[in-house]
Amino acid sequence: MPFTPFHLGPGAAFKAVGGKHFSFMVFGGAQVLMDIEPLIGIVQGWPILHGMTHTLLGALIIGLVAGAIGKPISEFVLRPLRIRHHPISRPVSFLSGLLGTYSHIGLDAVMHRDMEPFWPLAAGNPLLGLMSVEGLHVLCLAAGLLGLLIIAGRALFSQFQRSATRRGRGRMRRGAPPG
Ligand SMILES: [Zn+2]
Repeated sequence: MPFTPFHLGPGAAFKAVGGKHFSFMVFGGAQVLMDIEPLIGIVQGWPILHGMTHTLLGALIIGLVAGAIGKPISEFVLRPLRIRHHPISRPVSFLSGLLGTYSHIGLDAVMHRDMEPFWPLAAGNPLLGLMSVEGLHVLCLAAGLLGLLIIAGRALFSQFQRSATRRGRGRMRRGAPPG
């Protein structure tokens, strides 16, 4: 299925771990780019939906494209929304794009019979059925929830720290001992 939100679960986990060194926007864009081929395939009725794009080589090319166009597009989208975010550097953009495409084929390979991820080096799909599709979805969902929890927890903690610092400064100005 093109554009499943399950691919975004690991993205949230990567964001929780990587912080400002990872762009969720570029990662998400890479997911969309990856599934253009299957989407066209469904519309056109192709026998193989996950072809060239869903190989190690295809993921490299699409990851580099996502990295190159992800930075300007993300900044263009985020600016008018006034969403506070770390500046997306070029290395961060490429890293996020490539993590996006490689995690994508890693997950897809477990569930799509028509994939040949190691083409042209090897035929077939050795990752197929490594775990059940339901198990895979639960894993992605759990990664996403855990990532979101960590991100939210960190934001709350830094807000708490900021207000504690402000309270401390206020006490110092009034001449009271800091507590
Ligand atoms: Zn896919």
